[in-house]
Amino acid sequence: SSVQVAIRVRPFLSAEAGNARCVEIVHHNGIRIGGEQGAQFTFDFCIGGNSTAKANNNSNTQHYVYQTCVEPMTMSCLAGYNATIFAYGQTGSGKTHTVLGGSTHDTEGILPRALRDLFARLEQARDKSNGTHNNCSSNDSADNEEKGEEKMETNENANSNFQFEVRLQFLELYGEEVRDLLSSSMTKLSIRDYGNGGEPEVVGASEVVVSSPEEALLLLERGSFRRVTGATAMNSASSRSHAIISMLIEQQCSTSSNNENEEEEEVEIKRSKFHFVDLAGSERQKRTGATGDRLKEGIDINKGLLALGNVISALGDPKKSQPGKKTFVPYRDSKLTRLLKGSLGGNHKTLMIACISPSASNMDESLCCLRYANRAKNIQNNAVINVDAGSRKLAELRAQVQLLAKECLRVRKIAGEEEVDEKDGVLTLHVLTSLAKGEDVDVQKLQPTTTTTATKNLSSITGTSTSSSASSPRVNDNRTMSLEHNAEFFRMRDASRHLEDKVQSLAQ
Ligand code: ADP
Ligand code: MG
Repeated sequence: SSVQVAIRVRPFLSAEAGNARCVEIVHHNGIRIGGEQGAQFTFDFCIGGNSTAKANNNSNTQHYVYQTCVEPMTMSCLAGYNATIFAYGQTGSGKTHTVLGGSTHDTEGILPRALRDLFARLEQARDKSNGTHNNCSSNDSADNEEKGEEKMETNENANSNFQFEVRLQFLELYGEEVRDLLSSSMTKLSIRDYGNGGEPEVVGASEVVVSSPEEALLLLERGSFRRVTGATAMNSASSRSHAIISMLIEQQCSTSSNNENEEEEEVEIKRSKFHFVDLAGSERQKRTGATGDRLKEGIDINKGLLALGNVISALGDPKKSQPGKKTFVPYRDSKLTRLLKGSLGGNHKTLMIACISPSASNMDESLCCLRYANRAKNIQNNAVINVDAGSRKLAELRAQVQLLAKECLRVRKIAGEEEVDEKDGVLTLHVLTSLAKGEDVDVQKLQPTTTTTATKNLSSITGTSTSSSASSPRVNDNRTMSLEHNAEFFRMRDASRHLEDKVQSLAQ
């Protein structure tokens, strides 16, 4: 599916009173800039900016933006897809207003709206699955519900249990530094890449479990205070950094059915990410009147945006892509593009909201923004539902662990570190040799010191089910088995990451 692009034209600000209008929305997906003879562009959505048509003005509300372009993304996330929404545009064009918005019901942005929608649907799915005979799904449409009832009639003994967990991450990219806005220490973090389609991750970034939209919004508010802001001539509270807010959603559905007195249990885990990216202003630093440190910031920020532009044109320019040939995409040129690799050309459904000012005084910037957005339209992503197909995944991970153990042994040999067993804790020569042979080693003992969240999360999700199976072990034997299966999946994943770290640190 291609990247979707929405243009949002904000209303005139009081400071722009008396300025001429330079953009007109010509229909729901067409926009013209620079008067009757001006350039015309087509996008998936064009919102706001028409002084003559009253109806169009009314549709430039936060609710309208959420409903038309964001709600479908929320639904995709619940179905197990990753999703990303970028806000792009010059400082003062309405990016933060669109993403976070104001504090009242009417003015809050797409992020708070998505959070509320997400929790409401997840809670509804959980309540529905509680003790009832049903199939669990967090994005039932009306006709799905009808099918659910049909299923209920045909399989009287099917019972499902739905659990979910939402974690929040809030990062800031300031120049080429990654900061954790959910942590008071504000340490600089590094990015770790995963080969073969894996998305890069920020090592040690806080992932805070949130149990309600309000809790998440409070964390975001605190984090926003930490965000670096500075005054420039264009906007007195302009953000000089990129912000990436992510919701990490984990949904677990276990279905047990009793067929001819045999208990059968299936556990399915869906994991999806929902990124909201509030980019720094796209204006060229000449106009902002910035000097000194502010000027340096301007240059650093533009490095990220410049790299983003290059990635977009590598992916989106039909002239550059030749059939059968892989185009080089310069993701690695900036931290911003490294982090957003999945969102551009990867396993995400992506929406870019390009924000522009209606004022003729900003026409050059607005035209640049429309051209930039126009290239993004052509990007093809390949989003898939992220569901753990139990055994297949586990087998892959086993193979990966084996491979990494071999690599680790090889690097140790080169580094002449045969005698480092003591220092390495559990990764002794003996353990590595067994892993390299593909023998079973208690992977739980290989728990890395840094990446333990996954395992912790799993136990918090499965906590209730495992304790109930302890009280009635006979009936739940199968359930325990499959839950352990999932726990093993996480342990293998952690082990594989730990080994990867080890190989990297040895290789240095
Ligand atoms: P950016 O984040 O792109 O620098 P802001 O979101 O801070 O810009 O918007 C600049 C100003 O314009 C703010 O005062 C904001 O409230 C106002 N604004 C932006 N978009 C809209 C809109 N769609 N409706 C009303 N006011 C808006
Ligand atoms: Mg802003």
